[in-house]
Amino acid sequence: MELWLKEGQIEDAVMTYKIKETLVRRMTPYQDLAIVDTYAFGRMLVLDGIVQTTIKDEYVYHEMITHIPLFTHPNPKKVLVVGGGDGGAIREILKHPSVEKAVLCEIDGCVIEECKKHLPEISYALDNPRCEVFVGDGIKYVHEHKNEFDVIIVDSTDPFGAAEGLFGGSFYKEIFDCLTEDGIFVAQTETPFYLPDVVKKVYKDAKAVFPITKLFMAAIPTYPSGYWSFTIGSKKYDPESVKVDLPEDMKLKYYTAKLHNACFTLPKFIEDIIR
Ligand code: SAM
Repeated sequence: MELWLKEGQIEDAVMTYKIKETLVRRMTPYQDLAIVDTYAFGRMLVLDGIVQTTIKDEYVYHEMITHIPLFTHPNPKKVLVVGGGDGGAIREILKHPSVEKAVLCEIDGCVIEECKKHLPEISYALDNPRCEVFVGDGIKYVHEHKNEFDVIIVDSTDPFGAAEGLFGGSFYKEIFDCLTEDGIFVAQTETPFYLPDVVKKVYKDAKAVFPITKLFMAAIPTYPSGYWSFTIGSKKYDPESVKVDLPEDMKLKYYTAKLHNACFTLPKFIEDIIR
């Protein structure tokens, strides 16, 4: 018998993956959590039926959501990840020797637990002594910490349920206050192909808070449309014009110094969305 995971991307389009084995399937207090092994993308974390990360293409998302802000900031010491319970963002952040402490604030402890068991290639850095794991709501955590982080990364699920409040102007204002005086924030902000209104609103909301706001793109095969946006808000440094001197030993597969500047060059339809 063949088993297939069917991810509804929009009402009229689905992506399907042939499953080798279901490693875990459980209802957590927050979501339906599954980790399945697939023929095309290896093991993948699936929350409420939506693919979050896969062994085969996770490097694109995790490198871009971390190295763009961390190479823009001249000396990032303290970094916060909101969401990101798979640990991939923390793994990339800790490749930066300047980082003294990376805090992960994930609302669902079961995501951390299962990713540690079944996705060790992605989650291993959660046990690094420079990483502090906090299980709780990112909205509350950001509200309770002021002027503390050089970089804040919102590595969240889509804007529904527990993650709904992580998208929008009032949260970006809280993030602004949680950052140090030259801090930088970045968030995964969905696909302009299927969700132009979300991309537009997030960009507008961030722009109302941060002096420098930009959108950048990456090609992620397992995310809807394969073409994903990230929104970056910066108090001081322009991420698009920074000159990156990339150390050779970082073991990266997607991010390059050239791509750092190039990923902000947008196709016309995306420029039109955010104008
Ligand atoms: N790379 C992924 C993507 O864009 O599909 C995101 C992966 S990461 C696993 C997303 C995490 O955000 C989930 O584990 C979820 O539990 C967490 N999350 C959702 N809302 C949250 C909140 N309010 N505070 C902290 N974490 C939250």
